[in-house]
Amino acid sequence: MPIRVHDTLSRSVKTLAPREPATPYRIYCCGPTVYGPAHIGNFRTFLIQDILRRALEVDGTEVRHVRNITDVDDKTIRQSQAEGVSLKDFTAKWTKKFHADCTALNLLPPHVEPSAVEHIPLQVAMIEKLVANGHAYVTADGSVYFKVCSCHDYGKLSHLDRDALRTQETNSAGAANDADEYERESVADFALWKSRKPADGPNFWPSPWGEGRPGWHIECSAMSTHYLGETFDLHGGGIDLCFPHHENEIAQSECSTGQKDFVAHWFHSMHLMVDGAKMSKSLGNLYTLDDLRAKGASPMAVRYALLAGHYRSQLNFTLKSLDDAAAALHKLEKGAEKLLEKNGLTKADFAPPAVLEKNTAWGEFSSAWETLCDDLNVAGTLGKIFSALPVVTAADRTVEQARADLSGLGKILFALGLILFAAEEKAAEEIPPAVATLGEQRWAAKQARDFAAADRLRDELAALGWKSLDRKDGYELQKI
Ligand code: AMP
Ligand code: ZN
Repeated sequence: MPIRVHDTLSRSVKTLAPREPATPYRIYCCGPTVYGPAHIGNFRTFLIQDILRRALEVDGTEVRHVRNITDVDDKTIRQSQAEGVSLKDFTAKWTKKFHADCTALNLLPPHVEPSAVEHIPLQVAMIEKLVANGHAYVTADGSVYFKVCSCHDYGKLSHLDRDALRTQETNSAGAANDADEYERESVADFALWKSRKPADGPNFWPSPWGEGRPGWHIECSAMSTHYLGETFDLHGGGIDLCFPHHENEIAQSECSTGQKDFVAHWFHSMHLMVDGAKMSKSLGNLYTLDDLRAKGASPMAVRYALLAGHYRSQLNFTLKSLDDAAAALHKLEKGAEKLLEKNGLTKADFAPPAVLEKNTAWGEFSSAWETLCDDLNVAGTLGKIFSALPVVTAADRTVEQARADLSGLGKILFALGLILFAAEEKAAEEIPPAVATLGEQRWAAKQARDFAAADRLRDELAALGWKSLDRKDGYELQKI
């Protein structure tokens, strides 16, 4: 089943296929700026990119996935200086935190994760080419700018109106760009190399134009072409990156290599909103994974909640959506358990499928898979999975059908990156015996309609830092 997703450049939904047959499908995604914990908006974007990769792999396509770490820019330098820590130690700490969150959210690690600061000579080499071929110029203070008017098709990706393109003051999500002020020939020109300033402290590197550091955009052009070739298959990022970041990446890459088709497919996802407003520190509605875990959510419920809308629409995140996600996962687990039973198996046998092996058995889950292949319609896919569950757990299912159903469920869950039974196993591992006993007694009291005893036991649980989440057919103990 070919996978089709929207391409910003052609403004159409296109089939994903490597441009060179028999080579891996080559993907570059703009990674995090490591100056603090990534927020759940960032993860919405990384999660849909993860699903795109997983879907290709389930379809039997080998993928080469590169995602960079932005560890040298205005934000990382400013914040490390403010904390009096070296840039290296500062960004290492936040890179480590990012990796821990990615693991908790079950994001597949990219095949290559290049750090910008470790690739400065590569960036300098690309800037040198642009200066040599007349697409960039050096200013009196030793900075280098890209000459936008030298790139005739500049603007082809973002389709923004000419005024926005001329100023680079706002990005494609409408937010202000916090780019520095420069001595440039035209306001549209952007920095490739920034000469050393006192505020940079010890963070400067040598170049043919003097000491300084790379501009905001060049790292992605230099590292993507280095690891994937001058032209590759797909480039991803949140919608705010479409303009100016990706537009500038196209200009830098195509003007330095002379190739006119840097990337075949541009994949942008819309932003996450919170309670109907843009997520921002100033509104106090910015959540990290740890914030949500502290509220009792499991990482799988967070993953589910962040995926449950179409990537081409803004998603409005609410805390209630986490409860809905936990309930949906629980329902999926119950269905999967029944299906495993039909196959003579238990949940311990429920392993991820072997991907990259053409396995065409989807059983009743074939329409869920078709829905996912159709522009990564995750919400529709989840709907199809839930409508398939009563069919696959019905009494009249044959042995062959049950086997295909189980194969289909395993593959669709792998494609969505949803791990079942994880919370249960983890909870069982970590719950102290005294808490488990109180939980059992409370549930028994509640079943016996002895609500006074149930309340007292609830308070005792709370005193130990635990709470019980009750469902129709059982309960789950969670840390408060
Ligand atoms: P950054 O760490 O700011 O470089 O961003 C990492 C990724 O997160 C980029 O692809 C951004 O476009 C994306 N991103 C930033 N804010 C949001 C948001 N609110 N919703 C979805 N994606 C976002
Ligand atoms: Zn980038």
